[in-house]
Amino acid sequence: MASTTKLDHKPSPKKPRDEAQSDGRGRAVPKVTQREVEDAVRTLIAWAGDDPDREALHGTPMRVAEAFSEYFRGYREDALAWLSDADIDMARGYDDMIMLRGVRLQSFCEHHMTPFEGKVHLAYLPDQKVVGLSRLARVVDTLAKRLQTQEALTEQITSTIEQGLAPRGVAILIEAQHQCMSLRGIKQCGVDAITHRFTGAFETDASLRDRFMKLATA
Ligand SMILES: [Zn+2]
Repeated sequence: MASTTKLDHKPSPKKPRDEAQSDGRGRAVPKVTQREVEDAVRTLIAWAGDDPDREALHGTPMRVAEAFSEYFRGYREDALAWLSDADIDMARGYDDMIMLRGVRLQSFCEHHMTPFEGKVHLAYLPDQKVVGLSRLARVVDTLAKRLQTQEALTEQITSTIEQGLAPRGVAILIEAQHQCMSLRGIKQCGVDAITHRFTGAFETDASLRDRFMKLATA
């Protein structure tokens, strides 16, 4: 059995599938076998009114299990680890706002397990640490690939960047459309849910915040 070597400095954001599962907040959850997931899908098919033994549906439970494994891979990743190689030199003297506009968001509502999709605009004002731009999009994606509310996701992205980069401030704006609103219940399509969070300089400096909002909504 391979053991972890001390030469491997950088923690990998990926956790192996068979590691004790956690709910993304560090709490252990019972392990579920592939067979149990497929049986659950068969139950849902029968409950919906179809025959899980119908030939065309034979492979469906396995495919649904695979799809769910992809939708929720965020439980097997560590969002903070994406920022672990943040660097002091990378900024090369640049000390203004660093912003990503329009990071694609695909997540799942924790109340209905239906998708919500949209865009995340995020910025930070570096202090000592700067990180590769794609790492910030990875943070968003890892946190999004869990059962979420948009509000909680906004907060978690903010606190992960604060923890990982200790910046002078963080700004997040998320606009998303929730299928639990368009497919069911009130059946409202095309409604954007908007959440935002400002910390540090973005909270105290109105002109900085305005600059972020203008760029985010341009
Ligand atoms: Zn919902």
